[in-house]
Amino acid sequence: MIGDGQLCKRAIITLPSTRSNRSALHIAATRLRLGYNYPMQHIRNLVLDMDGVLWHGETPMPGLPAFFDGLRRLAIGYVMATNNATKITTQYVERFARFGVTMEPWRILCSAEVTALYLQRSYPAGTRVFVIGDSGLQSAMTAHGFVVVNQPDYSMRLPQLKPDVALVVAGMSHTVRYLDFAEAVSYINRGATFIGTNGDITFPTEIGPLPGAGSLLALLTTATGVTPTTIGKPGPIMFEEAVKRLGGSVENTAMVGDRLETDILGANNAELTSILVLSGIAQRDDIATSGITPDYIVDDIDELLNQLKVAHAT
Ligand SMILES: [Mg+2]
Repeated sequence: MIGDGQLCKRAIITLPSTRSNRSALHIAATRLRLGYNYPMQHIRNLVLDMDGVLWHGETPMPGLPAFFDGLRRLAIGYVMATNNATKITTQYVERFARFGVTMEPWRILCSAEVTALYLQRSYPAGTRVFVIGDSGLQSAMTAHGFVVVNQPDYSMRLPQLKPDVALVVAGMSHTVRYLDFAEAVSYINRGATFIGTNGDITFPTEIGPLPGAGSLLALLTTATGVTPTTIGKPGPIMFEEAVKRLGGSVENTAMVGDRLETDILGANNAELTSILVLSGIAQRDDIATSGITPDYIVDDIDELLNQLKVAHAT
């Protein structure tokens, strides 16, 4: 994962000694301290997590437009990958625009869309699906040719089951009710394939962590004994789709994220280079306690861009 010996050797010879540049020395020292002795020259593509990396909610990170300008100048490809299945691509495009960045929709991978894409490869158009999720997931499934059978009826004590439901797709929902769970459990027990958009147990809010998609999936697993296939990070499917969309390879693509247990673990498992930013959830001390080690650690996207500039200038 860390790279081959040649890369390490070349970097040790060329990096610090010929440069009076303070940032290059700082980068080299950081890398040596971490045990990573080669620069980022091999990185041609980035997969970027968004919250905690590019912004905190409605507050963009300082220098966000300059970061993307810098990537374009270095000819480094980029896509965004988020486990959030409650939003659709256009909502992220609008957020980027508010923050002064023009972003093409194809560059944004939401777990809802990747879930629908993944299932589209195995199921014909018209396949009937029951969805636990917000409108982002429902519209992604519909847009990819699935028939969503959900028909809320608040007056019933028992769900009214529909025929021929092949899939139960579940993700984060702010409005899920007992009857939705009851209906999903019934389809899974009748043989429907159980898919989860992502496994995040909680998500952070201003009042503390609240139950996320993983907690809702756990309810269904408890009731049925069936464990879902989950699409989002840290599983491999999101990373495979990102690399494919970039036209890259695992060797020249890096994942940039703020969560060790999803972004970094997933990247390590998928054999992408992993870059932890300290501008979000995980802090340096968490690495030892989690046992999940990124290939690089940077304070924020500003430092990441500076490191890439140095690496690609050598
Ligand atoms: Mg994040």
